[in-house]
Amino acid sequence: MNSQFARVNGNENIKLSFMRDVVQKDGKETWIAMKQTTSSQTEIVDLFVIGGGINGCGIARDAAGRGLSVVLAEMGDLAQATSSASTKLFHGGLRYLEYFEFRLVREALIEREILLRAMPHISWPMRFVLPWHPDMRFEADTRTSKLLGMAMPWMRGRRPSWLIRLGLFLYDNMGGRKILPGTRTLSLDGTPEGAPLQDRFHRAYEYSDCWVEDARLVVLNARDAEARGARIMTRTKVMSARRENDLWIVTTQEVETGTIQTHRARMLVNAGGPWVGDIIHGTIRLNSKEGVRLVRGSHIVTRRLYDHDKCYFFQGTDGRIIFAIPYEGDFTLIGTTDAEHDDPSRKPECTPEERDYLLNFANQYFRRQLTPEDVVWTYSGVRPLYDDGAQSATAATRDYTLKVDSTGGAPVLNVFGGKITTYRRLAESALEKIGQHFAGLPAPWTKGVALPGGDFPVDGVDDLVVGLRGAHPFLTEAWARRMVRAYGTDARTILSGAGTAADLGTDFGATLTEAEVVWLMDHEYARRAEDVVWRRSKLGLRLEAARVDALDDWMRARRGRATAAAE
Ligand SMILES: Cc1cc2nc3c(=O)[nH]c(=O)nc-3n(C[C@H](O)[C@H](O)[C@H](O)COP(=O)(O)OP(=O)(O)OC[C@H]3O[C@@H](n4cnc5c(N)ncnc54)[C@H](O)[C@@H]3O)c2cc1C
Repeated sequence: MNSQFARVNGNENIKLSFMRDVVQKDGKETWIAMKQTTSSQTEIVDLFVIGGGINGCGIARDAAGRGLSVVLAEMGDLAQATSSASTKLFHGGLRYLEYFEFRLVREALIEREILLRAMPHISWPMRFVLPWHPDMRFEADTRTSKLLGMAMPWMRGRRPSWLIRLGLFLYDNMGGRKILPGTRTLSLDGTPEGAPLQDRFHRAYEYSDCWVEDARLVVLNARDAEARGARIMTRTKVMSARRENDLWIVTTQEVETGTIQTHRARMLVNAGGPWVGDIIHGTIRLNSKEGVRLVRGSHIVTRRLYDHDKCYFFQGTDGRIIFAIPYEGDFTLIGTTDAEHDDPSRKPECTPEERDYLLNFANQYFRRQLTPEDVVWTYSGVRPLYDDGAQSATAATRDYTLKVDSTGGAPVLNVFGGKITTYRRLAESALEKIGQHFAGLPAPWTKGVALPGGDFPVDGVDDLVVGLRGAHPFLTEAWARRMVRAYGTDARTILSGAGTAADLGTDFGATLTEAEVVWLMDHEYARRAEDVVWRRSKLGLRLEAARVDALDDWMRARRGRATAAAE
């Protein structure tokens, strides 16, 4: 069916158009209904945030908690881009020490435990085993490598063990650890950590960092922002924004219905991740010289490669590093790569070359030689790094840069770079800049405040699992643990009243039930099956395609019924 746009009052005050029906014909979605929608023009909000990745949602949460009125628009699902494609570590970034990124590393190290306490369900401590061998090499353009090459020319390009030990000493002591254990030296001969590795490795260092479920982190920030008054709009693309005196006039389009709305805001936040540059130059047409450098990183997933629960930190002969991490119980995650990526709209995918690079890298360490047939899944994301003019993608800074432009009237804050690990501090820094435009903004508040479901002690997961199984004896240990790890104390609400598995409604497979999907749709912005199986969970690793399709049909039908009931 056709779409129809109306112009009212000679500007884009209003708009309207079509609604996509839930029915599919010949596998294609069909536009069958027309609907006219009028957007509100009366409300002026303080902040309009573009982008529902970790940085947009983190800023929205912090701002809403300080009493600002906030609207956030995400053109797809929350965390659909970089923030669901990370290596999922709250880490200081051991390798950044070689680039002398001391500010970033220190801030990130301190954040690990602050974040762990605020979300003990989706984040947990991990031990990293770093096997050492005399062949270890530096990335040639690190500052440490250059310095060492000048002071000790015979060491040029080498990464000696004393240097690693020094780096780990700094790593242990720069960030005020209380929960995480420090570094220790480990024998690989006859130990579980040495078992999957080749015989040439005899010694390793073991240090701490943390795991985090990245996509769930984003959703929980969005939920908390909403609970504090923010409006979160998903599948809503910002088409344009222009200044009108002291306000931003922002035009959005709902991706599924085509409905266009305009919004008025006192300040704009551009947290578009890989699209930050496109938004600056295309969507809001700023005359800015700031640039973003897009660096793709890919991961491969194999069936579980070893029996213990520690990660490996492997150093390559090219000076790069990769991780091998226990993943989702039955799998191992290996990554990442660093490749230039020219266009944010080109979906990042792990190329065969990147897959082979990761396999070859891992094969320099693991006893068992991996082949492409071992790879069960891959994913890829684009790092939106601030362009600091570094030679290589690996060397480009991972620190964040916040730039405010208020030259043409209402201010806009552009967000470049950042890590999942530093999102809360990035939001605080953003609010510092935003505060210059909103007098009397309250002080920072997010440190020590739990995210939804995270209101229990760091070591309280086992107790929650036991409690859940006591209340719902039909739950297996793995099922109960999955619920606690995903939802924390909210798992009790999702399962409340269920005496049997049948009480949880339709069984979609792999312990995913109707009760959980309803929760995800009603409280966590999930609309499609892929939101549920690849971002709110990773059950896509266990569900066959037909099951995922059935889930998608069920979710569509439920949405259709809800829309009909609302009309
Ligand atoms: C391979 C890889 C591994 C990483 N590993 C780690 C790690 O282990 N630990 C760590 O701390 N960090 C890690 N990072 C870094 C971290 O993932 C990113 O810094 C972070 O996710 C960036 O978040 P963001 O919100 O800026 O961007 P994104 O998550 O990409 O969010 C931007 C959002 O803006 C939306 N958007 C864009 N344009 C519009 C528009 N016009 N209208 C509406 N919405 C729009 C997009 O759809 C997108 O969802 C990794 C990154 C990569 C790529």
